[in-house]
Amino acid sequence: MRLLVIEDDRDLNRQLTSALEHAGYAVDSAFDGEDGHFLGDTEPYDGVILDMGLPKMDGIRVLEKWRREGRKMPVLILTARDRWSEKVQGFDAGADDYVTKPFHMEEVLARLRALLRRAAGHATSELSCGPVILDTRSSRVVVDGNPIRLTSHEYRLLAYLMHHQGRVVSRTELVEHLYDQDFDRDSNTIEVFIGRLRKKLGVDVIETVRGLGYIAQAPGVPAPKTK
Ligand code: CA
Repeated sequence: MRLLVIEDDRDLNRQLTSALEHAGYAVDSAFDGEDGHFLGDTEPYDGVILDMGLPKMDGIRVLEKWRREGRKMPVLILTARDRWSEKVQGFDAGADDYVTKPFHMEEVLARLRALLRRAAGHATSELSCGPVILDTRSSRVVVDGNPIRLTSHEYRLLAYLMHHQGRVVSRTELVEHLYDQDFDRDSNTIEVFIGRLRKKLGVDVIETVRGLGYIAQAPGVPAPKTK
């Protein structure tokens, strides 16, 4: 999952970015409304953390523009403590949730997890695919009850496929959603990661759909027909 943090307070931006990276997300940062709007308009983020008070273009305008342009990614806004009107404006502009400053990082992470899983149509923070269970709270993966050790790249890959279980995900989509801007985006690396992931999981839950991409599916469920 790839996220965008738009916050002009550099310390806060750094804290958010590193906490999110630590939690297993790929993260890009912007420090003003114009850059932030541009990134959200051109890159396929799975979720955005958007501060309301921003230089160049305020958060409400960024959000309104995205929604007018048809951008539907979940957006969590950061509002000042005593400005209830910001929250109202934020929701009206298309925000999905808010956190009031100053906040606890844990709350931001929990709200984000909830937004991401709702966007993907899941009811709980634990995703399962046959014998594989992925807990988005702890970033832990268990197969048949045995914990599996994954690198952060492998975890992101599995989490993305499991969030979109039953749907074919192309390599391009994976590259776009798993890596931040600065990453060397060679789609061959995806194949390498898929290979390692399969080996570690030891069960057949990731299928290759030739020419199209990959699909996470419980063993025994037939893959969708392709021409
Ligand atoms: Ca601010």
